[in-house]
Amino acid sequence: MSERLKAPRGTRDVLGEQAAAYAEVEQRARGVLEAAGYERIETPAFEATELFARGVGPATDVVEKEMYTFEDAGGRSLTLRPEGTAPVCRAYLEHGMSRRPQPVKLWYMSSFFRFERAQAGRYRQFWQVGAEAIGSDDPAVDAESILLLAELFDTLGVRGLRLRLSSLGTPRTRALYREQLIEHLNRHAEQLSTEVRERMQRNPLRAFDSDHAGTRAVIATAPKLLDALDSADREHFTAVRELLDDASLAYEVDPMLVRGLDYYTRTVFEFESAELGAQRGVGGGGRYDGLIEQLAGPPTPGCGWAAGVERILLAGEPLARAGAPVDLYVGFDAPQRRRVAFALATQARQAGLHAQLELAGRSFPKGQLKHADRLGARFVALLGADGVALRQMDTGEQTETASEGLIAQVLRRR
Ligand code: AMP
Repeated sequence: MSERLKAPRGTRDVLGEQAAAYAEVEQRARGVLEAAGYERIETPAFEATELFARGVGPATDVVEKEMYTFEDAGGRSLTLRPEGTAPVCRAYLEHGMSRRPQPVKLWYMSSFFRFERAQAGRYRQFWQVGAEAIGSDDPAVDAESILLLAELFDTLGVRGLRLRLSSLGTPRTRALYREQLIEHLNRHAEQLSTEVRERMQRNPLRAFDSDHAGTRAVIATAPKLLDALDSADREHFTAVRELLDDASLAYEVDPMLVRGLDYYTRTVFEFESAELGAQRGVGGGGRYDGLIEQLAGPPTPGCGWAAGVERILLAGEPLARAGAPVDLYVGFDAPQRRRVAFALATQARQAGLHAQLELAGRSFPKGQLKHADRLGARFVALLGADGVALRQMDTGEQTETASEGLIAQVLRRR
């Protein structure tokens, strides 16, 4: 006997109530986002590897360690998408969306792939719902985007939320700050974790994400990017904050917040949920005013977020919907009646009923009625040697019926 295979580590099958819950997240996201003018987009599951190297940044964890990259039979290097923003920006350019009225607002719910250490709330294939508004640097875009994510969490009953907010300024400010930070890290190099020390020149901001006690102590006394912002960035950040204040959305300004991807400029934010364990981030995003240029497009500002669907479901209220009702179950006594029974079930569905046919050769009528009951069927058609009977399951009332009028009867009585 050959060995039975399992789903790869870090992936999961989505079944039954879980599948219904995913569908519900998508439906509610559509409600929230389409009300604000976001249009659905679906990009391919894989892209040219270079899109992420250039867009997300070669020194980021995602690009350095987490991508599923492969060469196809045509010799091209492709990568399963680890995130959604770079692909959406690529599509924006490829389809000339800069010619549309700006900003162009796009949303998605798709699966993403990262080679990460699998644990509760962290998978190697996971789903994100995301929203991107491209073509405006107005602080109202940032504030609206954050509010929409807060509204989505609210409609999904995500509990224990905390919103952290910061600004990373422009790339120029960041470049100047980077040097200051490297200097500070260098002065305290012996206290840093090996990883942070080794990557200090390539990506010093990652030190802010470290859990290492020594590194945290060094970071606590480090100069903060938020204090280094120029006046235009500061003004932009103040405007975002005012709009959030006006909307009574609580947040904490957190100078320690740096996000893992290189493309962020100005506003960054992250929602955490106390309901989650170590993997607390439930959704986050920010502004990426330089990304489209990185992808060889014209200077184009953008702002967006992504939220993890599995974590929403872990931290939110149960979303299971009642299974689809079965209006009619079609049972029959012997193989010679299969064709008539099959036609009846098909016609019932064409008439708009939820109808299922007996497919497992259960005993007639006992086993079939038991199964129909388990499915919660309202009516059962029993096709036997003596004709057709229609049974109403809740009352047990059973009447002989001509098969022609049966569907109309169920439609009338259901
Ligand atoms: P990021 O693109 O890293 O900012 O992630 C956005 C959101 O996606 C996070 O807040 C998580 O909710 C979710 N997420 C990111 N990585 C994973 C993962 N490996 N497994 C499950 N959810 C994830």
